[in-house]
Amino acid sequence: MALNQVFNGESKIQVLELLKEYNGKAKLIAGGTDVIIALRNNKISPKVLIDISKIEELRRIESKDNKITIGSAVTYTQIVENNLFDSNLYGFKKACRLVGSPQIRNKGTIGGNIANASPAADSIPPLIALGAKLNISSSTGERKLLLEDYFNDMKGNTLKADELLVSIEFEIPKKNQILGFSKLGLRKALAISRVTLSSLIGIDEDINIESIRVASGSIGKYPMREKEVEEALIGKRFNSEILKVAVNSLQASMDTRLVGRSTLPYKRKAVITLLEEVYKDNLSYFNEVTL
Ligand SMILES: Cc1cc2nc3c(=O)[nH]c(=O)nc-3n(C[C@H](O)[C@H](O)[C@H](O)COP(=O)(O)OP(=O)(O)OC[C@H]3O[C@@H](n4cnc5c(N)ncnc54)[C@H](O)[C@@H]3O)c2cc1C
Repeated sequence: MALNQVFNGESKIQVLELLKEYNGKAKLIAGGTDVIIALRNNKISPKVLIDISKIEELRRIESKDNKITIGSAVTYTQIVENNLFDSNLYGFKKACRLVGSPQIRNKGTIGGNIANASPAADSIPPLIALGAKLNISSSTGERKLLLEDYFNDMKGNTLKADELLVSIEFEIPKKNQILGFSKLGLRKALAISRVTLSSLIGIDEDINIESIRVASGSIGKYPMREKEVEEALIGKRFNSEILKVAVNSLQASMDTRLVGRSTLPYKRKAVITLLEEVYKDNLSYFNEVTL
């Protein structure tokens, strides 16, 4: 199918109408950092492209009622430059700061990263650790979906052809909680990450872990919760002993999940370094604010 038109999306409503009209033959484009490559490689052949990158309501970051809502067309650079993502949300900023190059961060969007559904998508593990929800619209209605459930089908992408990811929302973590992130890429710049880990950890007055959510990227078919690690750590005292527990538990899950894969020995080693980095970042935050 030849591409015969590019629409400059002006509003969410107009985009939803176009998606309905072109009934599976339209492709949304935000930053284009994935779409353009797919077009060039003839992996996709839409009849029309709908550019959503200039729609104001999709480019907003809002903080209200203890909740942050990020429009789907918000770029990595917008996140990196916003001080909402300092302090205990720094893990999300760190993930965005480590994406590709400045050019990719200026164009690439959070919505595109999620919709593209790569197992190596960097913004997703911290958002899963935060318990983020997706706000999805079509011409027939709206729905909310927990980000971690988004990947639970075999194809990895549960957005339908007539749907627009409008925004991503999550509760702002409490002061006794810290979002950590670490990534091992192949090269420093332009790296598509090979392994990423993120955790949201909360401690109580006795320095025991009272809440924990851990998520990984690229150590499975899609980014996912690491529930065995969470179960192994909940209630434990937050000190360097938990590192050993976390490493053993994560490696045991990986041994089952990645059995027979040539990358398993490398990834087993990689997670040791990644968990150490997250632990150190968490410790310095807790030392500063709560301990
Ligand atoms: C050189 C290079 C380096 C890269 N490095 C990294 C990296 O380090 N880490 C990383 O995670 N990624 C990396 N990427 C991948 C890419 O930049 C990201 O996935 C980016 O976030 C995609 O966003 P985009 O706005 O460019 O998406 P687009 O290319 O515009 O769209 C991607 C897909 O999402 C769909 N889509 C976009 N927005 C919506 C929406 N609101 N609702 C529904 N569907 C939508 C599109 O139709 C398309 O299928 C890299 C890419 C390149 C080319």
